[in-house]
Amino acid sequence: MTEDGFVEVVTETRLAERVAQLGGRISSEYADRNPVLVGVLRGSVIFTADLIRHVTVPAEVDFLSLTRFGGQGRVGIAMDTEVSLENRHVIIVEDIVDTGLTLTALRRLLELRGVASLATAALLDKASRRIVDVALEYRGFEVGDEFLLGYGLDWEGRYRNVRSLWAVMDLPALRRAPDSFAPVAYRRR
Ligand code: 5GP
Repeated sequence: MTEDGFVEVVTETRLAERVAQLGGRISSEYADRNPVLVGVLRGSVIFTADLIRHVTVPAEVDFLSLTRFGGQGRVGIAMDTEVSLENRHVIIVEDIVDTGLTLTALRRLLELRGVASLATAALLDKASRRIVDVALEYRGFEVGDEFLLGYGLDWEGRYRNVRSLWAVMDLPALRRAPDSFAPVAYRRR
């Protein structure tokens, strides 16, 4: 669906189906391992909430948030998990992997904590923009290099609560008028 410079790239139905499949795979591969799913705030909140309800084996959920230093993909942990990750089977839950720099740095930080195993579930993969190769054990959709909004992804804090995933065709226009997506995003259904 295309409306005023915004294109719906993944519908609610498709998102739900794919997230259910990923949850099913995690359930069979992590039975008896009591994994900790660690959502990376804030973009992965919606994906995490949907994914964990399709994990049908014992599992825990926690969150962390990151700060970025400079443009070289250096990250630090701004808000840490409550549970200790030592000796735990950890699944990082990410919204989108773009250059791969953030995820690479996060994986390194978590490996230093002596995890029993580490995997990543990323809803979206901008594979064509990758700078560093990074393992993605569970991947929802490969997407193009357009800027995406909705289902957790934001523009200056807005639009995370939009139920499906949209591509922005004219980013300079959105920059000039950040509210311009609202009539499309929150159209009465
Ligand atoms: P990377 O280090 O892989 O380049 O960056 C990944 C992060 O960039 C994501 O967690 C997300 O915060 C942000 N990002 C990358 N592409 C998009 C996009 O299309 N839309 C939004 N809203 N954020 C994005």
